[in-house]
Amino acid sequence: MTAGATLPLLGQNLSALETWAIQHGQPAFRGRQIHDGLYAKGARSLDQLTVLPKAWRQQLQADPPKGASDWLGRSRELQRSVARDGTTKLLLATADGLSLEAVGIPAPGRLTVCVSSQVGCPMACRFCATGKGGLQRSLAVHEIVDQVLSVREVMGERPSHVVFMGMGEPLLNVDAVLDAIGCLCEDLGMAQRQITVSTVGVPHTLPTLAERALQRLGRAQFTLAVSLHAPNQSLRENLIPTARAYPIEALLDDCRRYVAITGRRVSFEYILLGGLNDQTHHATALARLLRGFQSHVNLIPYNPIEEEDFKRPSPATVEAFRQALRASRTAVSVRASRGLDADAACGQLRRRHQAVAQAGG
Ligand code: SAH
Repeated sequence: MTAGATLPLLGQNLSALETWAIQHGQPAFRGRQIHDGLYAKGARSLDQLTVLPKAWRQQLQADPPKGASDWLGRSRELQRSVARDGTTKLLLATADGLSLEAVGIPAPGRLTVCVSSQVGCPMACRFCATGKGGLQRSLAVHEIVDQVLSVREVMGERPSHVVFMGMGEPLLNVDAVLDAIGCLCEDLGMAQRQITVSTVGVPHTLPTLAERALQRLGRAQFTLAVSLHAPNQSLRENLIPTARAYPIEALLDDCRRYVAITGRRVSFEYILLGGLNDQTHHATALARLLRGFQSHVNLIPYNPIEEEDFKRPSPATVEAFRQALRASRTAVSVRASRGLDADAACGQLRRRHQAVAQAGG
């Protein structure tokens, strides 16, 4: 990435920061100091980079990049919600006043950050709270990396895993998502294998994602998770209206192309909606559909949202579905629901915040 006068510094790598320092009449080592301040120390503003000459900081502060109040590009925390299980949801404000969610999910020996790739989402999946509000805009690299740093700061622990399962559709923001993955790996020292990109599918973008990942990152080792949610086209397009323009067979063909280009397996997410797609015959049909794929299915029992009255299936139904997949020799796991008492499920903190703001204003 090149250093430009209008870019915040967060998201830029060491050589870009060195170039930027030189362009501002400073020695290259100032770039290394900024890199250390941003990524190792988690500085939130230029003020905190006291290692830099004060006169230079004041000069920079008088001339911040377009649309930002500070060169660093960090967000402001609007609200924090901590569930009994430690799941911590942050509502963060962008420089232009939009709000987005990032969630820290602790487990023994592991801290996963669920990041947003867009503010809002245009995909309008019926069971998803984020989809109800439409898309505001895609996030820039620094706004994605900031979420990981913000969770690290609040939870006092280095994140081990990042999942692009917050707000937004990552495949509508491929370049920023890949640049953010590059930054997390090169500048924050994370491993690509600990990163998952989740998509509901956008026509023609999966092979592009694979090719650009190879170009940008040298290899594509992150996990691709595809939100399938149904074993056939008619049920899928009932739950996901945008799927009308992307037949399930075309989506699976693109997954095969992704596997051929990257050499990585694809995993499939399957939301379980009581009485709709959670019967054992659906499981058998799903196993048949995925035959020949070296895949893994992750079952997600529906997290209830206010706007819809889908049902969360009973634990017994979830277990029967899992057993039916296993009996058909499909690798399967069930995602534990975390942080339900903190509105941590899928876009809900933000919607509640907006509702309160609207009622108040
Ligand atoms: N747009 C991407 C990533 C964001 S959603 C995608 O669709 O994959 C991350 C996952 O959460 C998706 O599998 C999505 O279907 C699921 N999800 C959305 N709303 C949910 C809800 N109310 N309960 C359970 N899972 C939900």
